[in-house]
Amino acid sequence: APAVLSSIAFVEEAFGAWHISGGIGKLAQAVHQRALDLGVIFHLNSPVTEISHNSQSVTGVVLASGQSIDAEVVVANADASIIYSSLIKDDLRILKGPRKALSKADPSLAGFSLLLGLKPAPGTPLLSHHTVLFPANYDSEFDEIFTQKKPVQEPTIYICAPNDPAMVRMPEHESWFVLVNAPPHSQSGNGWDWSNREFASDYANKIISRIESRGIPIRERLEVLEIRTPADLERTVSAPGGSIYGTSSNGAQSAFLRARNRSPLKGLYCVGGSAHPGGGLPLVGISAEIVANAIGRKRT
Ligand SMILES: Cc1cc2nc3c(=O)[nH]c(=O)nc-3n(C[C@H](O)[C@H](O)[C@H](O)COP(=O)(O)OP(=O)(O)OC[C@H]3O[C@@H](n4cnc5c(N)ncnc54)[C@H](O)[C@@H]3O)c2cc1C
Repeated sequence: APAVLSSIAFVEEAFGAWHISGGIGKLAQAVHQRALDLGVIFHLNSPVTEISHNSQSVTGVVLASGQSIDAEVVVANADASIIYSSLIKDDLRILKGPRKALSKADPSLAGFSLLLGLKPAPGTPLLSHHTVLFPANYDSEFDEIFTQKKPVQEPTIYICAPNDPAMVRMPEHESWFVLVNAPPHSQSGNGWDWSNREFASDYANKIISRIESRGIPIRERLEVLEIRTPADLERTVSAPGGSIYGTSSNGAQSAFLRARNRSPLKGLYCVGGSAHPGGGLPLVGISAEIVANAIGRKRT
């Protein structure tokens, strides 16, 4: 991994790092608008509760409202473990393979994040776009997350501080995203129970204190503080345990355990961080491209 990851530094040095004006959410808005322009109909806030099928092929989806929608092709962006364990209800023989592989795959690590709105701080130098504050003992972070499965006492802290006027309401204000790695949310002992809001608030304050102890003032400037725990991620986007990268990429087998883009159930395509080729926005974009090409080829 170190050799592969060093390619990131090369790419940033050779080609530069790019930021979308207004933040990454603008990309989703642009894709949404492009799809509307092409005549796509969106049913927002309509969770799919079932992928319907016969013994060989998908036949459509059922929404939480009870409405059934017929379809020859279903592109599923939910986590693959949820697609195969709860959205497809029946015990189909052709799905034994993916179900067995997914039962061996682990979710990736989770994330605890803060969204900060900050007033101007005259005389304080602006942070770079990316800042990483490393702890004295980096190894114990891995031990706490993966072995003890508890929030990290002295975590590595990532701060994204875009100097982007399109991301703030008033000039000189700043909006920061702060992320620390976290054990997954679990109420059955296989992680940490992140549903306690008081604990989350104390943990957020601890992170802010650690940032301030490195000479970066926050509290005197703080106007907005939003906390997102792994439990929030699980509740809002159905990411198992609040995993941030779909299924884990650790281990030699992980690539083979991941859901294939073309399901053995005809007409079903899996896309996103828990499908091939994996998590993170660039790979998720490639996943979407593979699925779009596969469907395009099938139809022509
Ligand atoms: C805090 C955080 C920081 C990150 N930082 C980075 C980073 O710096 N760089 C990077 O490359 N990646 C980063 N990632 C990872 C990246 O965001 C993910 O890999 C990517 O968003 C996964 O895309 P996806 O389409 O698979 O899933 P999602 O973006 O989670 O989209 C899945 C969508 O499906 C919807 N859905 C789920 N189930 C159903 C259902 N049954 N019915 C209807 N809709 C459903 C969800 O509501 C959601 O909108 C980060 C993730 C997090 C959480």
